[in-house]
Order: sequence, then structure tokens, then C-alpha cells
Amino acid sequence: MTEFASLIRAVPDFPKPGVTFRDITPLLADGSAFARCIDALVEPWLDSDVQAVCGVESRGFIFAAAMAQKLGAGFVPLRKPGKLPPPVMYADYQLEYGTDRLEARVGTVRHGERVLLVDDVLATGGTLGAARNLLGQLGAELVGASVVIELLALQGRALWPRDIPLHTVLHY
Ligand code: IMP
Repeated sequence: MTEFASLIRAVPDFPKPGVTFRDITPLLADGSAFARCIDALVEPWLDSDVQAVCGVESRGFIFAAAMAQKLGAGFVPLRKPGKLPPPVMYADYQLEYGTDRLEARVGTVRHGERVLLVDDVLATGGTLGAARNLLGQLGAELVGASVVIELLALQGRALWPRDIPLHTVLHY
């Protein structure tokens, strides 16, 4: 574990009984820990010629925007439904009860552009999978994904294609 792991708070029974929520806000509030976390997220991609970093709403935005600055790349938000002005493309994914959707504004990712996908937590893998599908629809070349926290028991990595690098920094 990286030393900034101590700044991630485990909150039992949030947002519902039986769930342990990993709270990243103490990490974000510590300037030096936040910077080291961004360094750890970008490290595998420094020579990957990334052109755009795509962050998943909402906590993914925080990390993706900082990483885009480090990589000299653009930032593209993948948003919850109804937030982006049209035209948009979308990908749906399953939740425990019902479905959810991610949207991207058409034109923010160009065909063949080398993109990196970023989120804060990999749990069941549904969110990251939908984001990957969406980037595929847009014709992006997905270089890989970087995620701060991987919740190993939920086996989200099993849904991720083996031939696309998936970098996770902290593991619980
Ligand atoms: P998945 O789709 O089940 O992999 O869930 C990942 C999404 O849920 C990410 O976008 C996270 O922001 C959010 N998420 C799941 N568990 C946690 C948590 O413990 N802390 C913060 N976000 C979480």
C-alpha cells in the first residue's frame, strides 16, 4: 500500500447497511498526498502519448483533470444523464436495482484519439465497462484505465478486457 492510503477513510454502513464506503475527501484535502496520488495514477502513462483523459462523474473528474495537466492532454467528462448539452452518445449499465447511463458529448473525443479512462473506485466494474463502451462508440483508441481504489472482493477486474492495461493504485 502507498503511504497516502492512510488518508482514505472507511465508513461502515454508508450509503446503506452492509456497505463500507471508501471516502477519499481526507486524501484530497492533503495537498502533498493528493499530488503523490496523481503521480501514482499517471506513472504508467507518461510515455503513452495520451491525448485525452476521460473522467467518470463525479469523483473521477477530480483525478482525471489533474492527470490531464500532468500528461499535457485534454480532459473529457463522462457524465450522468441529462447533464451535457446535445448531441451526446451514451452507454447503459446495470446497477443492483435498475440501470444507469453515462453520456459523452459528441465531438469531445475524436475518432482514433488516444484516451485514458479514469475513476476513483473500481467496485463491480459496471461503471468502468460502460465508460469503455462509450469511448468505443466514439471511435477512441483506449490506451488504458487508471483507478485510485480497487475493491478486490467485488471482482470488477474480471469484466475488464485482459488486453487493455488497467492500473489501480490502492487495493482493499
Ligand atoms: P462499480 O460500477 O460497481 O464498479 O462502481 C464504481 C462506481 O461507484 C465509481 O464511479 C465510484 O465512484 C462509485 N463507488 C463505488 N464504491 C465506492 C466507494 O466505496 N467509495 C466511493 N465511490 C464508490
